[in-house]
Amino acid sequence: MKKMFYIALLAITIVACKNQKPTVQGYQGQGKSAIVSTLSKPVQKQWKGIWSFENETVFFSNDFESGRLNGITYDGNNHYTALITAENTPVNVSPWYAFKVWSNTTKTITLKMTYQDSRSRYYPKLSTDGINFIPLDSANFTGINKGTGNFGIKAVPEMIEIKLNIGTAPIFITAQELYGSTRVKKWIDSLVTKDFISTYEIGKSKEQRAMNLMQVGTGVHKKAVMVISRQHPPEVTGFLAMKSFIETLSGDSPKAQKFRENYELFVVPLMNPDGVDNGHWRHNMGGIDLNRDWQDFNQPETKSVRDFLVKKESEGYEFVFGADFHSTWDDIYYPIDTTITGDKGKIVFDWINNITKRLPQKHTNVKPSTEIKPTMVSRNYFFANHNMPAIVFELGDNTPRDFLKEKGKVAAEELMDLLDSN
Ligand SMILES: [Zn+2]
Repeated sequence: MKKMFYIALLAITIVACKNQKPTVQGYQGQGKSAIVSTLSKPVQKQWKGIWSFENETVFFSNDFESGRLNGITYDGNNHYTALITAENTPVNVSPWYAFKVWSNTTKTITLKMTYQDSRSRYYPKLSTDGINFIPLDSANFTGINKGTGNFGIKAVPEMIEIKLNIGTAPIFITAQELYGSTRVKKWIDSLVTKDFISTYEIGKSKEQRAMNLMQVGTGVHKKAVMVISRQHPPEVTGFLAMKSFIETLSGDSPKAQKFRENYELFVVPLMNPDGVDNGHWRHNMGGIDLNRDWQDFNQPETKSVRDFLVKKESEGYEFVFGADFHSTWDDIYYPIDTTITGDKGKIVFDWINNITKRLPQKHTNVKPSTEIKPTMVSRNYFFANHNMPAIVFELGDNTPRDFLKEKGKVAAEELMDLLDSN
């Protein structure tokens, strides 16, 4: 136990050296991103294994794909404190966590979750199989140092205390549903059973994980749609909408069949496999926010997509639409203003309007950007370098999962209609 304590202490000491004030990102309109260097920085690799307590009767583990638990202490009386820290700092306020807990005997424990200088952004989800998740019963949830207001990081508690009934079967406690590289690859492989879908590697991440690309179409058409997601590991809701979007475009409907008669679809579902599998809050193994690297391309993940696009363009492809799926505090669309994109960019706004007509939401939340250089973010690079009308499609952390699925489907149907009428 002493050893665990020192590991936890070491983690706190290392990450406490740099302090970042929480800021609300996104909702006020996506302003110009600050220009930051994307040269690699050190990342603290997480200790992985099993912690045991109470004469080896209670166990915690972070030793699985996307796991994150940086330290845990026993405070007596069935009370534990978990330390969740980031891969490096400064970092966005998106404290990802994922761990398992079990016990030789059935008991109730209380677990305090702490997040270094961050706050409790993600409401805990529970699972017994790592596949199906349900939110923790609110009766077992207590916020500590509750936030102020009703939106964004300031509104959530600084820490939380959760009550768990544990037994011999491990329970997963996670920030969002688990979609690590293995599960994502399984999803890709399930689609590749269709004869018009193929998959191949376009590069490797820093830790040599595959950058998997999925191609929907037969390769005879030179008009194409580009989709990416998961530059930021915890943004699972964006991934889930993307998944439904791709499944619809790959589906058997007459609309989808017609779409594939004229267009190719290229998808990189997991832009940051190292960050996802290491349970990072935001960065890749180079310690960098990949969505700031679309100008200088210092990181292998962004480089592989750039090289892919350049190659496809040299083969005569014209990219007619691009989408980059993310998650934030609410559902938001970030297109590029038509003062920059002109007629070409109108399809993005027509698409947003058509989705909104079918799925009215209280806030439409459309925030066009008027500056795109230096490119830095994928959407700007897509337009500036490949003349591709593009959007950052943000889904809320807490958007109901059924709605995410429906939104992905409707977004795909409306895109197919617009491309068909063009
Ligand atoms: Zn993001």
